Amino acid sequence: MSKRILITGAAGFLGSHLCDRFLKEGFYVTAMDNLITGSLKNIEHLLQNENFEFIPHDVSKFVEVPHRKTGHNGDVHYILHFASPASPIDYLKIPIQTLKVGSLGTHNLLGLAKAKGARMLIASTSEVYGDPLVHPQTEEYWGNVNPVGPRGVYDEAKRFQEAMTMAYHRYHGVETRIARIFNTYGPRMRLNDGRVLPAFIGQALRGEDLTVFGDGKQTRSFCFVDDLVEGIYKLLFSDYAEPVNLGNPDEITILEFAEEIIKLTGTKQKIIFKPLPQDDPKQRQPDISLAKKVLRWEPKISRQEGLKITYDFFRKLPHEELFKSEHRFG
Ligand code: UDP
Repeated sequence: MSKRILITGAAGFLGSHLCDRFLKEGFYVTAMDNLITGSLKNIEHLLQNENFEFIPHDVSKFVEVPHRKTGHNGDVHYILHFASPASPIDYLKIPIQTLKVGSLGTHNLLGLAKAKGARMLIASTSEVYGDPLVHPQTEEYWGNVNPVGPRGVYDEAKRFQEAMTMAYHRYHGVETRIARIFNTYGPRMRLNDGRVLPAFIGQALRGEDLTVFGDGKQTRSFCFVDDLVEGIYKLLFSDYAEPVNLGNPDEITILEFAEEIIKLTGTKQKIIFKPLPQDDPKQRQPDISLAKKVLRWEPKISRQEGLKITYDFFRKLPHEELFKSEHRFG
């Protein structure tokens, strides 16, 4: 019988791509999501697959894994914890849920991993480095996070999540993996989640000016989703339990990024400047030496290629989606 993997946040951007990958690799996938920021649209193509099941559930509450659709007992071999609001706009709107899914949710899932003897990988983030004073960011850097600022709800939940995960690893011997994920993009991002790439592409498609926050000199480094999924896959099956950065080191300023999107989309609109949100990191670039060494992994897809694929996805969305403000909460 195939191995079963539980993926939380499965109806989200990264979660749904992970469902695709693990089904392709022959796993039985139990997908969990409370659909607060995720969407069934992202996994509807999987609902008829006999090796896939969807369980609507908020993992901040006790997590139970029922008997498989196709077989016996409630076994689980692997857990990927990807449930969390992940865009600054989302976690500003639902701060308590963000804190709970990173803390209580992680605790519940680690308890499940311990009970089932499963290996668990958590989705941590470059936000654990806050507004970093070390550049590029290596795993040894402890970060520069404002715990009581607006982003603190996400950053501290994720830092707690790492601490809890290491504690279960050290004190209960649970097999754990920690991925520190840097900015990732690709098809199935939500057009209105507030992140810079869907924001710019959405603006271009609606014929609006592109809103650069601050002077646009802040930097980010964007990784295409297929590369990230490959990194997660390799990390899960490695024997490395300490945190590993996963991202694309190709760094760019937000102003340059806006110019790239203008070129890509051919929009005639211009760039306008808006105030920089509080505690917005000034620079971000992963040092991926560790991933190269222990996982033999590095991104392969250039920004040019990845942006083209992503733009094609957004361009094909039904016209009304472009104008929908789709927040289901707050
Ligand atoms: N940003 C921007 N215009 C937008 C949305 C975001 O200039 O319409 C900037 C934001 O201030 C940040 C960068 O783009 O410096 C990346 O923001 P995002 O929300 O994608 O994620 P972050 O990397 O900050 O978590």
